Amino acid sequence: MAGGFRFALALGLMGAGLLQGQVTSPEKFFGFQLGSDRKIARWDKIVEYFGLLEKESGGRLKAVNMGPSTMGNPFLLVIISSAKNLAGLERLREVNAKISDPRGLAEPEVQKLIREGKAVICQSMSLHATEIGGTQMAPELAYDLLSRRDQETERILTNVVFLMVPSFNPDGAIMVADWYQKTLNTEYEGSNLPWLYHKYAGHDNNRDAFQTNLAESQYMTKIMFRDWVPQAYLDHHHMGSYGARIYVPPYAEPVRPHADPLVWREMSWYGAHIAYKEEEAGLSGILNMAQYSGWGHFGFHWITPFHNTAGMLTESASAKLATPIYIHPDQLRGDTRGLPDYEVQTTFPNPWPGGWWRLRDIVERQKVSAWALLDLAARNRETVLWNAYQKGKRQTERGVQGKPAAYVISAHQHDPLTAIKLVNKLLGQGIEVYQAPRGFTTGEGMRYPAGSYMVSLAQPKMGLIRYLLGRTLYPDNEWTRARDGSPMRPYDMATDTMFEFMGVRVDPLDALVRGEIVKVAGPVERVGKVEPGGSAHAFDGRLNDSFKAVNLLLEKGVAVRRVDKPSQGLLPGDFLVGAGAEKVLAEIAKETGVDFVALEKEVTQATHEVKRLRTGMYQRYWGGNMDEGWTRWLLEHFRFPYTTLMDAEIKKGGLNEKYGVIILPEDSTAMITGERRAVPGRPGERAEGPRRPEEAYPPEYRSGIGEEGVKALKTFVEKGGTLVTLGGASNFAIEKFELNLRNVVANRSSKEFWCPGSTLKVKFDNLHPLAYGMPAEGLALYLGGNPAFEIIPSAYNERYEVIVRYADRDLLQSGWLVGEKMLAKKAAMIAARCKEGRLVLIGFRTQHRAQTHGTFKLLFNALIR
Ligand SMILES: [Zn+2]
Repeated sequence: MAGGFRFALALGLMGAGLLQGQVTSPEKFFGFQLGSDRKIARWDKIVEYFGLLEKESGGRLKAVNMGPSTMGNPFLLVIISSAKNLAGLERLREVNAKISDPRGLAEPEVQKLIREGKAVICQSMSLHATEIGGTQMAPELAYDLLSRRDQETERILTNVVFLMVPSFNPDGAIMVADWYQKTLNTEYEGSNLPWLYHKYAGHDNNRDAFQTNLAESQYMTKIMFRDWVPQAYLDHHHMGSYGARIYVPPYAEPVRPHADPLVWREMSWYGAHIAYKEEEAGLSGILNMAQYSGWGHFGFHWITPFHNTAGMLTESASAKLATPIYIHPDQLRGDTRGLPDYEVQTTFPNPWPGGWWRLRDIVERQKVSAWALLDLAARNRETVLWNAYQKGKRQTERGVQGKPAAYVISAHQHDPLTAIKLVNKLLGQGIEVYQAPRGFTTGEGMRYPAGSYMVSLAQPKMGLIRYLLGRTLYPDNEWTRARDGSPMRPYDMATDTMFEFMGVRVDPLDALVRGEIVKVAGPVERVGKVEPGGSAHAFDGRLNDSFKAVNLLLEKGVAVRRVDKPSQGLLPGDFLVGAGAEKVLAEIAKETGVDFVALEKEVTQATHEVKRLRTGMYQRYWGGNMDEGWTRWLLEHFRFPYTTLMDAEIKKGGLNEKYGVIILPEDSTAMITGERRAVPGRPGERAEGPRRPEEAYPPEYRSGIGEEGVKALKTFVEKGGTLVTLGGASNFAIEKFELNLRNVVANRSSKEFWCPGSTLKVKFDNLHPLAYGMPAEGLALYLGGNPAFEIIPSAYNERYEVIVRYADRDLLQSGWLVGEKMLAKKAAMIAARCKEGRLVLIGFRTQHRAQTHGTFKLLFNALIR
């Protein structure tokens, strides 16, 4: 902005007595302009700066430490508004909550609340920590809001409560800044981090919004889904370097149904203003309504529309972190949804011509988009709030009129403790849940026991409930197929049906049940019971938490046995503890919720002692492997001890001395061995051209177990070890161990076979120890690129056992499946004997993002004997 203009406006406002004290500029504080070439402000300095701004802001900025991130760094919520608004923030929060959930309010009351309320806008930065623009921009955005004296700024502060999360991933922000510093002035300057930029999740931290396994997700859901329901949310990301300079809202087709239509119109409305403001500022390369479809995975910006928040994202072209990148005009391309060519079109009227592209360019475009959203909300405060009321009211009405009317989570479940986890996850989303203190019968004649939960659709988050608890089919139409008829990959998942992932039975009801129900006030905690007496105790092998109990018992030196044949009402897979451990059992019952049942007499026939196999968890570089990270998360949460195993140790051999089982997480053979160049990321992803400089890693981070590693793993198995291969890593096992198995979906065209992120019906052989505790039938999560197996006839057929098999027909529960006959009746999980050891090949995603509770046990069973 020109100095003269700012001066004139400052004078204008001085008369109104609004001039504040001096606020320290980022340039002064950090010693450089944020976004400058080859400079990254570190998270601790940014936290310090917000602390300073809070002191200097005259009550217009509040920096709230939400708590520690996964690795113990402060997770900040920065609230910016007028001093008057911040002084009365709690009242504004109440007003916002009532407008967003207007049940029981008469319209005049709502009108009054709207006059009193403020537009609540949330924006978050650099969730993906290598996408550094947002976090570098945030201090400057705050500074501008506090130091600019013009009417536009004053209107924003007066009319908007701005909830800013300056880093969604503080740990990653620090890792990336340090990595950049370390590689500065080397040939690897600007290269990406060789490991995950979050302790467990890496890029997948944006796939956690509905399951909230991570501390960061839990803070965000508290901010956005419970404490506040913002009217709009904008999440700032980066994308590849060779297309548009910044994508801004709205999304392209297809969109998910069941949100209030206003939410999609709002995104167009905000998006138009954002794009317009960018052009007004003379910034080129702005693209909207393209590239990112409105139906995506349930990450934060894609789940928020179903919370009645206009949930949007920006995606900026990446530089090489803070190092500029040069792009030739002929390297620029469209080739994406809604931008077939890099040419002028309505939603892309001003293509960027090419040249040097810098972090500062990103910071500027993001700042304009962030500001534009605040500006439009401030100019239209009453409309924004009226819409918030409308969305909440109409979604509730749709819930009243539509079918189903409610979902019931029966107290009778295969794994009731996991059902409680589902209830708690729903509460975390701000969804209302009720519980029936007595048993009841539905109009359809279904009988439910006391303690069953009910989720009515007659509430503002109706759309969200339908997706988390109702079967979901991804559209197969002209928006989802390319011109040649081949299916276009959805953004990651074709479904996020939480109850299916978790293996919890949820029933839709056409009508609400009359009778006593009680609102669940807070997270449900269950303390397990220890039945007194008896000569031994048994606990249920169907519960995931029983494995945690097993691990806790073994940690305390208490022996555990497992039942192999039914007896005394016990099932294969149930666990047994001898007499005398009651005190320990009481502690564990409290910690896990598991019940311990007293047995009249000890069971000795057909049981075996549970031995934990010493677990090695393979980890590689090349940016890290998210599936590896989530597996670690899962093992830690169920108290399975493990050792991270890297290339050097595998290559060295002698693995049997230290390990009983080695887990290879989902990966391609090329990435595991390092034999060939491969693009890091999920298999099935579009292969790209030669590795770009920013994707090159220093030699010590180009991992791969090599031929020696393959040999060492073979020796390990032949001498009695167990090798567990998850998802695509099973292809590695087939190839390198020369198994008599064939991946039946390998090399199929997408028109022939296609199944992105979907739940499929399978049968479990629950008499086999690897499937102990599983139901006879259930669901498995299949993700594109996962293998399914056929046993090739040979002289060694008996070495192979099918543990999980796809159903005969009608496989698809939720998502998208083309070519079901390819999978029908085929093996989904196989155990293969190999001399003294064995391989366990799990073709589907048994522990996907620590979300698929329904199939965790298949992995757990492989880690014990
Ligand atoms: Zn991103």
